[in-house]
Amino acid sequence: MSITVGDRLAAPDTARRIRGLQCRECGQLYAAEARHVCDLCFGPLEVAYDYDLIRQTLSRESIASGPDTLWRYKALLPIEGEYVVDTHTGFTPLIPAHNLGKQLGLNSLWLKNDTVNPTFSFKDRPVSIAATRARELGFDVLSCSSTGNLAGSVAAHAAKAGMRACIFIPADLEPAKIVGAAVYEPTIIAVDGNYDDVNRLSSEIGDLYNWAFVNINLRPYYSEGSKTLAFEVAEQLGWRLPDRVVAPIASGSMFTKVHKGFTELQKVGLVPSGTVKMVGAQAEGCSPVVQAARAHTYDVRPVRPNTIAKSLAIGNPADGYYALKIVEQTDGALEAVTDPEIVEGIRLLARTEGIFAETAGGVTIGVLKKLARAGKIDPDELVVAYITGNGLKTVDAVADHVAPVLRVAPTLASFEAVYNGQR
Ligand SMILES: *Cc1c(COP(=O)(O)O)cnc(C)c1O
Ligand SMILES: [Zn+2]
Repeated sequence: MSITVGDRLAAPDTARRIRGLQCRECGQLYAAEARHVCDLCFGPLEVAYDYDLIRQTLSRESIASGPDTLWRYKALLPIEGEYVVDTHTGFTPLIPAHNLGKQLGLNSLWLKNDTVNPTFSFKDRPVSIAATRARELGFDVLSCSSTGNLAGSVAAHAAKAGMRACIFIPADLEPAKIVGAAVYEPTIIAVDGNYDDVNRLSSEIGDLYNWAFVNINLRPYYSEGSKTLAFEVAEQLGWRLPDRVVAPIASGSMFTKVHKGFTELQKVGLVPSGTVKMVGAQAEGCSPVVQAARAHTYDVRPVRPNTIAKSLAIGNPADGYYALKIVEQTDGALEAVTDPEIVEGIRLLARTEGIFAETAGGVTIGVLKKLARAGKIDPDELVVAYITGNGLKTVDAVADHVAPVLRVAPTLASFEAVYNGQR
């Protein structure tokens, strides 16, 4: 398919809510099709909207009358038609975390519990948008390169949309995540290599096959789904911005789009203006963005991941540079925690708030704890921590660290001997 310059440039049509795809570096505007890189400067593309137009029709009331899913924010999402791939994703609970807050000396701590999405991670948000847009653009095959959670989400959304799914994973993925994707009957290809190898291969395949790779050629649409993490938090707080959020960083897509979401709410007049301090959390064993911050550079050096937080194990984060910029702009922070601290983060969250998070959640809570203990968070700030994946996906990470079960014979005497003996 040859594309001429004339076809590629979207006419800036003010009558339309979606202006097109815009290069984050040089500002060039493209039609809203399946592309993710600027032809002129190789910068990443993102969806551009006409906020003045959106502002005229969008209100707190129009949102409140929408469905109890992320589709209540459709006016701020890159979908043109009526049909959506609806897995009932989003509008997850925002929970006041009094017990955990007390332990950390934080008086207003909230948890955004995205472990309860349809495939048990926040990935259902970007994938709902990407799958819907893939249908709009006429694709038959939904595809991805996955660190784990994306595999299950893409497979489930393809099933719901009646599309074929073809999924690429690193061969060493946690078994629970492979089964959790395979059950939806996609084609799964396990690549001998790490995620960055998988992603490179997927890019080559994406160029040759006309497949909708949600996080490659559909990445501009995919990443927009993460804005709903900001929209929901603001709405659930009664249409106000939190003072600070803590969110994990793998490629940095979610982190940068949560920030974009908070910014958009101000642009369309749904919340008063303000700045949300953005805190990025990584695992020490894969912390290229944190390393760059520590070295006071925007030059994110790729690393070879070695951490139990496999869902965050992206050594060459596409949005790392933008994440660094956002942290600086918002007076936020970047911090990393070790594998033992991740395990302790999972356990701390479980024993204080009754939420079982996967390793990415352990990273978020570990970093929150580290910053709170270091006095880097004002005790009265309204802080929201994003818990992005479910603990049942990474049971092995904590299996050796939980309390042992007490084995007894089926008699009262045995029970009492054992139970009283251990106290
Ligand atoms: C994918 C993922 C993230 C963040 O990924 P980004 O690539 O930074 O958008 C966070 N938590 C979990 C559980 C994930 O699966
Ligand atoms: Zn450009």
